[in-house]
This record gives sequence, C-alpha cells and structure tokens, in this order.
Amino acid sequence: MGQGQEQKIRPEPQIEIQERGEIFFFYRSKVNKEEAHSADDVQRLYIIMRPESGERAVEVKQRKDGGSQEVNIEEQPLFRFTVMGRKSLPDPNEKSRPYWGFVEMVTTNADHVKNALKGGEYETKSRGKRHTSDARALGEGIYRILRHKAESGKRSHTHLIYKLEFPGEDEKNEPQEAINIEREGSFIIQIKNPEEKVGAGGGGLQKKRKAMFPAHLQGQLGHVRFAPADPPDFLNYEGCEFLLISASDHIEDELGLELLTEEGEHDASCSDLLDTFKFEDTATPSTVPLLKGIWT
Ligand SMILES: [Zn+2]
Repeated sequence: MGQGQEQKIRPEPQIEIQERGEIFFFYRSKVNKEEAHSADDVQRLYIIMRPESGERAVEVKQRKDGGSQEVNIEEQPLFRFTVMGRKSLPDPNEKSRPYWGFVEMVTTNADHVKNALKGGEYETKSRGKRHTSDARALGEGIYRILRHKAESGKRSHTHLIYKLEFPGEDEKNEPQEAINIEREGSFIIQIKNPEEKVGAGGGGLQKKRKAMFPAHLQGQLGHVRFAPADPPDFLNYEGCEFLLISASDHIEDELGLELLTEEGEHDASCSDLLDTFKFEDTATPSTVPLLKGIWT
C-alpha cells in the first residue's frame, strides 16, 4: 500500500523527516521446530526496510566488491534485511534498555530477500541433519527515519517510527504482542561505530563481519561509539550494527506527527509484502501470522 503519508499535527520545527518507506517484520522458529507457538520458539526476528523517498532520492549502498554504489530509491527497489539480537523489538516498558541489531543483507533484488527467508536442511558435524523452517511474515507497515533536533547545546538524535497496516487491527495480533510489535512504535536509533571499541560485554559482530563504511560516512562518526542514523545510508552497509531504544508510546504527543496508512479494507490483495516477495495471497504458514495475527 506504499509508503503512506505523515501529517504534522502541530508545528514542530525540531523534526525533520530523513527517509520514508515500508517496513516488514518476519520471524523464524527455532531449529528443528516446524512451527512457533510462543516467543520462546522464535529463533530470529527480521526487520526489512524498503526506503522509497527521503531528503535525498539517491542513497549510497555497498557494492559486493566493497565499494559503494548509488541507488535512486524513488526509482529502484532497495531492501535492508536486518536481524534483531534479542528476537523481539524493545519492550516499551523498559525505556532505557537498548536492543541491538545488525544489517545482514542489502540488495536491490527482492528475490535475494525471498531466498534468505526460506528454510532448509543442513548438515552439522555434532548433531547430524538440522532443519529450519521458512520465515513467517508477521507485520507490514510504513516507517520514517527522522531527525529530532535537540535544544541548543545538546546533540540531535534520530528516530525510527512505524505504523502497522497488517495484520488488521481486528485480527488477533498474538505473535505481534508476544514480541513487542505494537500497532505503532517509536525508537531512538543509533549506529554503532565499527572503529571504536565497546567495553567488555558489549557484544556485537565479529571483526570480519563488521561494516566497512565509505570514508565520508565513517568520518561522520568521529570518535564516538554510537551516533545518530544520519544519513540513513549507514544502514545500507552489511554488518552495520545499530541500537533501538524505546522512545514514547505516543508518537503524536512526542513528535507532533501522525503516520497515515491507507484507509479502507485491508485485504491480502493490497499487501505490498505479499506482492513484493511473491507470496500467494492465500493463507499459508508463511503468511497466516501477517494476515490473521496467529502463530504458525
Ligand atoms: Zn526524540
């Protein structure tokens, strides 16, 4: 249903939209489990962002050989396939607790995403044959990345905000509730500087998987450990690590902004997720959580 619209409900000169797009949520159940029935059965939570417009139509993304290429996001699809380390979105009741995630894949080809969502069999030395099932779609909506300018003297920060279109509000929303995918959310998003050491227990990706940002982006990070997602192009580099921190429960009160999804019937035929990744629009195990809000 597209990137939707946003409406300022009060003059808020401190807010600047950097990027608009669609957001898709998927989970994968644990190895050797065909289905998930609770958050404990979830192995992975994936967030896929598809930016469609922004302050600049042209963003940079990494090229396979390590360089950068330009993508006009208004003309060409761009997908960021990200993984949340804690297998859920931040708990809105734990405002100060950061949730770590990373960008696993950036591509202009929807088939690459579709393949990454597929399950399969693989051989392990110690435990024999293992099986992973196909990832399940459980959310589709619109998102914004925006700059929230601080009062003088303080550093500005960036938010990732979203609003769901699927499942419909009348559906059950069981897996969504279990892993904190609320109808709408607002998080402060911070980019981790791959060249700065984080203290013991900081976790994170191994060195060889960390992002290699081009000089102009790396230079912008300076010597801080975490920086705003400004520009959002940081997220177009595989291995980019980020933190999400729960902000307000009320986007409108906090940011003076309302996200507007399309009105009317939300039947499967208007789902961009099903269309983009070529899922059948009938209920299959991969799409029941998205359309009906129940675990499969
Ligand atoms: Zn803010």
